[in-house]
Amino acid sequence: MFHPLQVREIERLTDDAVAVTFAVPHELRETFRHTPGQHIALRRTVDGQEIRRTYSICTPATDEPLLRVGIRLVEDGAFSTYALKELAVGDTVEVMAPAGRFTLAPRPGHFVGIVGGSGITPVLSIAATLLAQQPDARFCLIRSDRTAASTMFLEEVADLKDRYPDRFQLIHTLSREEQQAGLPSGRLDEPRLRSLLPALLKIDSVDGWYLCGPYGLVQGAER
Ligand SMILES: Cc1cc2nc3c(=O)[nH]c(=O)nc-3n(C[C@H](O)[C@H](O)[C@H](O)COP(=O)(O)OP(=O)(O)OC[C@H]3O[C@@H](n4cnc5c(N)ncnc54)[C@H](O)[C@@H]3O)c2cc1C
Repeated sequence: MFHPLQVREIERLTDDAVAVTFAVPHELRETFRHTPGQHIALRRTVDGQEIRRTYSICTPATDEPLLRVGIRLVEDGAFSTYALKELAVGDTVEVMAPAGRFTLAPRPGHFVGIVGGSGITPVLSIAATLLAQQPDARFCLIRSDRTAASTMFLEEVADLKDRYPDRFQLIHTLSREEQQAGLPSGRLDEPRLRSLLPALLKIDSVDGWYLCGPYGLVQGAER
């Protein structure tokens, strides 16, 4: 079932991505409470035709649900073009309750996220909730983006590093930029992960892996 929700805030994350926050009325608080990693479906009807797309919730799970998604522009994409070029604060969008099983309910342990591009969105919610709610948990985030300027949620991830220096580890690779201080360049492909992972972690002692991003990256990481 879809619920009409008002857009409360639109924040530009990069040249081609925005974060959209919806106002959740008090009576829908329980409906929109999410487990970190879940997504929502958004629906728009144009000329009688329904466009329905899925976006991951990027905010941590808290008692007072903060419903925010990060949307990256896809060239000629019907919904993302509307979200970036037309959608405005105060507009109403039809939103379905959070769903999905790509989740982590906070528990002690060592968890790893390997993400590419907008794949950061659910993993940001997972890592932020875990670190805030579970003092005996650690999270290692290995992320890949084309350039620093195109990286979604750069600040939010940097905040995690400042807030949890002992429990949050970040490796950020940029595939289209020359190597910068502390940032290895090049694609995060299978050979790269094979050399990187054993140097970073005890692979056998990882309690959960969260892979999200382009097909090739997820396949390589799985192997
Ligand atoms: C579980 C899940 C979570 C997701 N989370 C996020 C997220 O957090 N952030 C995010 O940005 N995205 C996310 N996505 C992707 C998102 O759902 C959309 O797929 C994405 O925004 C593109 O939608 P669109 O309507 O803009 O593009 P579409 O209109 O679906 O078009 C996509 C591409 O296909 C091409 N195309 C469309 N129609 C045709 C056609 N008839 N012939 C040939 N080519 C065509 C378009 O040119 C475009 O390049 C998620 C997807 C899933 C499944």
